[in-house]
Amino acid sequence: MTEKWNLSAAPESTSHVELQDTYHLFINGEFRKPKSGKYFDTINPATNTVIATVSEAGKQDVDDAMKAAEKAFPAWSKLDGKERGKYIFRIARMIQERSREFAVIESLDGGKPIRESRDVDIPLAAAHFFYCAGWADKLEYAFPNRSPKPLGVAAQIIPWNFPLLMAAWKIAPALACGNTVVLKPAETTPLTALKLAEIIQEAGLPPGVVNIVTGAGETGAAMTAHPIPKKLAFTGSTEVGKFIYKAALDGNKKVTLELGGKAANIIFDDAPIEAAVEGIINGIYFNQGHVCCAGSRLFVQETVYEEVLSKLKRRMDTFIVGDPMDKNTDIGAINSKAQLKTIEEYLKIGREEGAEIYQPKCNLPKTGNWCAPTLFTNVAQSNRIVQEEIFGPVLAIQTFRTIDEVIDKANNTPYGLSAGVWTDKGSKIFQLTQALKAGVIWANTYNKFDATSPFGGYKESGFGREGGIHGMEAYLKFD
Ligand code: ADP
Repeated sequence: MTEKWNLSAAPESTSHVELQDTYHLFINGEFRKPKSGKYFDTINPATNTVIATVSEAGKQDVDDAMKAAEKAFPAWSKLDGKERGKYIFRIARMIQERSREFAVIESLDGGKPIRESRDVDIPLAAAHFFYCAGWADKLEYAFPNRSPKPLGVAAQIIPWNFPLLMAAWKIAPALACGNTVVLKPAETTPLTALKLAEIIQEAGLPPGVVNIVTGAGETGAAMTAHPIPKKLAFTGSTEVGKFIYKAALDGNKKVTLELGGKAANIIFDDAPIEAAVEGIINGIYFNQGHVCCAGSRLFVQETVYEEVLSKLKRRMDTFIVGDPMDKNTDIGAINSKAQLKTIEEYLKIGREEGAEIYQPKCNLPKTGNWCAPTLFTNVAQSNRIVQEEIFGPVLAIQTFRTIDEVIDKANNTPYGLSAGVWTDKGSKIFQLTQALKAGVIWANTYNKFDATSPFGGYKESGFGREGGIHGMEAYLKFD
């Protein structure tokens, strides 16, 4: 039995955060009431209480935003790269200066532990702006002899799992390359994007270069069907990605899609087991498992299975699940009631499929959306919990004997976003990175992100890369 530390509550203060009761749409450099006249609430998933009321952009609002972006494009695209870079640097620095406020809002609105928003989401968001700012006047060197030119207006739609970071992944490269944008955050997590809009306004970015509209699927569909954007950029579910792809084909637009995943995390018997266990934990329980590249399928070599399993369970027993604002919390709230329902449905399916379930004892809060970290053993390749993306803190474990067997099993999925390999042997790492059909493969680590490094998938995980100069290429055309 693992001893639980008896830690006192260590809540992050929220008193420094400035939030409005009602948020309007950020169009042409100003906050405007929605012409649709509609609003919706954004909820704190840890308490299920309303944080603020947010505008729902209708077709007319989307049209206004697109026109503002179109009007801003000629001047912005012709601006000297060095000048564009200065604006982007300014945004990066302002995110850094207000990082505590951003971190608190991200955790309030989305449910993720403050430690993660403070140490991962916000610093990485700033890093993407810094990185792209540096390239703004060097595109000719990034793409030598290819005469890079911006595309025009980009319509960008992002999900709720990394709200500010995904906004940075989308906006920073688009601006650095001279495009203008209309971005829509997800309906359950609009607040950090709206905070970013305030910063963009303060940074003095020319009106219309960045427009931020809020709303749900209908607003997103109005954006993708609109004739003005030359490029659609989407991160979210494979299901919605298919609609977006169709809209791009119908409208003859460029498109990048970063969709779902069901990543294999592979542990060989020569791996450093303690480190691998931490990698498994980080791979699946980071951000409540709301991660498209989460290592949700664990493959352990048979000879070390018992050791890995017992160490993993011991480690899971130490988890602190609860208040996202507490600095000791490891696992926060599930982002929405709807997502919790989906995860619970999969837990039921897993049991019905005959898998064995393990959940540590944790005192889950009485109100809010919570799910204990979960481990399924005794699963088969054909099980739905092994094939389908759950997007929650749910891991399925299988064993293997040989390299060929694990490659076959790992690739047996419609997805291909990421994978992890744990071994002492460099040659095995190279063999697997060649053979696994996944866009990103981590070796002896997991969930490491960097603004300079491309990220994206194969098969139903989408196409196109974000991050690095590959991410900028997606916002350029060449002669
Ligand atoms: P998740 O599974 O992560 O909830 P979704 O793919 O449902 O992701 O949502 C990701 C983003 O796509 C959100 O901003 C959502 O509002 C938007 N969206 C949902 N449906 C559509 C649609 N039909 N067209 C365009 N955007 C959509």
